[in-house]
Amino acid sequence: MISLKNSSKLYQESCEYLPMGVSSGIRKWSDPLLFIDHADGPYFVDVDGNSYVDHTLAWGPLIVGSNHPEINQAVSSQITKGYTFGAQHQLEIDLAKRMVEILPGVDQVTFSNTGTEAIQSALRIARAKTGKTKILKFEGHYHGWMNNVLVSFHPATSQSEVTTASCGGQPPNDYADTLTLPWNDLEAVEAAIEKHGDDLACVLMEPLLANSGCCEAHAGYLQGVVDLCREKGIVSIFDEVITGFRLGLGGAREYFGVQPDLSVYAKAMAGGFTMSAIGGRREMFDVLRDGTTIHAGTYNGSSFNLRAALTTISILSQPGSYEKMHAYGYAVRKHLEAEAKRLGIPLVTCGSGSVFGVHMGRETLPQNYKDTLDSDTVMYKKFHRAMLENGVHLLPDGRWYVGASHTEKELDLVCHAVTESLESLITK
Ligand code: PMP
Repeated sequence: MISLKNSSKLYQESCEYLPMGVSSGIRKWSDPLLFIDHADGPYFVDVDGNSYVDHTLAWGPLIVGSNHPEINQAVSSQITKGYTFGAQHQLEIDLAKRMVEILPGVDQVTFSNTGTEAIQSALRIARAKTGKTKILKFEGHYHGWMNNVLVSFHPATSQSEVTTASCGGQPPNDYADTLTLPWNDLEAVEAAIEKHGDDLACVLMEPLLANSGCCEAHAGYLQGVVDLCREKGIVSIFDEVITGFRLGLGGAREYFGVQPDLSVYAKAMAGGFTMSAIGGRREMFDVLRDGTTIHAGTYNGSSFNLRAALTTISILSQPGSYEKMHAYGYAVRKHLEAEAKRLGIPLVTCGSGSVFGVHMGRETLPQNYKDTLDSDTVMYKKFHRAMLENGVHLLPDGRWYVGASHTEKELDLVCHAVTESLESLITK
């Protein structure tokens, strides 16, 4: 057994000073709670000196790994020129131009700092543009922690068409304008648009349901939703906080070949620095240009974050980087499925190569949040712990992230760990 003595000690101390001993509530899902000393490339080293191949990528951002020499160099040279200006500078144009080159159907972008913020900004733009107030989201989808969207996220039982608060302190009035539907049901979207279309400002969705099992959209579903929105003057919004710069350089727009009105980016776009953005067609931003509404933020466009984003995107632009990430991910998925089959453990994987979900205790792919409730989370928890013992750091919810820093060497280590960990489940 690996020793986690120092992590446990620090966790106890942390709980004395931080209400839950963590800085983001969702990190409480992790068990054990590791304290990290440092990270390098695709490895995390904890305060007990254990080194792990990391497949959490800090919940997504670390797409080119940690301690990357190009990012280090770019950010440190930027820091000597100023941290943040609260004023305009060349890097804003450089990054915006690069994003417009890369992202299909995107003519302009705005910058913020976190996914939560950028989502709120996109909702406001949609409301200002349409003059309507209601928003439609889907069960199991996560769009940040604000009251109007942190609803029907992970309810204990699926209530697909009822909007429920996901935690305490959420006044019903704050989400009274949020409608919820099950994912992957185009007829339900059509019916809701028929009924509420005149009041609906936007439909907001994770194009790959990464926050609930990585359920894949049915063929034609994403395009179907976008088309239904267009017919009714409703703004379609892809929440690409996870998929952006991850499924491909052009994110979900490129990977699925679908162009919604707006897309929201964060996480992978700046390789671990604090950066988010909205991209869309030029006319979507008319409401900012003509002063109908505002988009603001002290730290928006901070220079070193922009340098980090530009450098991350330049590293990811190297030929073959996405092919390599996807190939790695599919190789892990194949190994997981083959070894589970050999050992008689029901297991399926879904999603893409660079972000995918592993579901134990089931033989069919989940189509939506409701289906994910049938997965065997108790068995996955044991598997997760065994993987840690075998030197692989995973997220607690079955989601795996793959980055450009994962190589054949890590693939071998991880496949070996998978075999050992699955075997340990049946020998216990
Ligand atoms: N949207 C999605 C799809 C996310 O996964 C997240 C974060 N996990 C957010 C929005 C919120 O982003 P942030 O944590 O940067 O506020």
